[in-house]
Amino acid sequence: MRGDAHGGARRDDLVFARVREALASGGCPVCRLVTHAVQRFLDNFLYERVNDPEMRDELRASWGFCPEHAWALPAQRNPVLGVAIVYRDLVGALRDRLDAALRSRPGRRRAAESALHLLLGPVAPCPACLHRQRMEEVYVASLLEHSADPHVRQALAGPAPLCLHHLVLAASLAKSAEQLKRLLEDQRQALARLEADLSELVRKHDYRFRHEGLTLEQGVSWTRALEVLAGRDPNEIRAAPDVRPRPIRSPTRP
Ligand SMILES: [Zn+2]
Ligand SMILES: [Zn+2]
Repeated sequence: MRGDAHGGARRDDLVFARVREALASGGCPVCRLVTHAVQRFLDNFLYERVNDPEMRDELRASWGFCPEHAWALPAQRNPVLGVAIVYRDLVGALRDRLDAALRSRPGRRRAAESALHLLLGPVAPCPACLHRQRMEEVYVASLLEHSADPHVRQALAGPAPLCLHHLVLAASLAKSAEQLKRLLEDQRQALARLEADLSELVRKHDYRFRHEGLTLEQGVSWTRALEVLAGRDPNEIRAAPDVRPRPIRSPTRP
């Protein structure tokens, strides 16, 4: 462990506290945690990183955010000025590249295409996607580290299974065969329950059995199934910002 061992331990405790909270909420805990982490990242970007030179370099290399995260910006608090400042820069950079492409005038169409390709790419990954990836690994590692904890097992095997994407990530990060086996056993149990709930949902759609009524788990099993295979709805980030209100500080012009 590096330098500040106590600081590291405290950070681990804090991470695991968040993991436990997410496990108690149901659905893939890692999806839930990274949705909130990306939400905080975008909020922080608009609030204090619009004029951060490092951030601006990253955004120039990626031509801004990916579609998912670019279109999460309008739903943030006070997005207008920050987006206008950063994207004015990107629009100008793109126009510069097109100026250069027009000046170079290669003779053949193929050459013109490849010159343009060189000028416009390669594109670096979206900074919010990179942040999500980093946080996924932090949360999955914490979950694995506590995978023998009875509360964790109970949640993973019941209401809070991992989605397929995070299950594969967890399998790749597991530190021992036992850790991986526990995880797969819990996940299998959760899937068997979900499968049974889906069967009941389908059966009770038949008018002959409709009067039996659905349990809460059966009623939500169809969206749970979508989440298990596809992960949590990424658009949720637009609907429910999960950040504390803060006073607004206008970014200054660069
Ligand atoms: Zn997930
Ligand atoms: Zn992204």
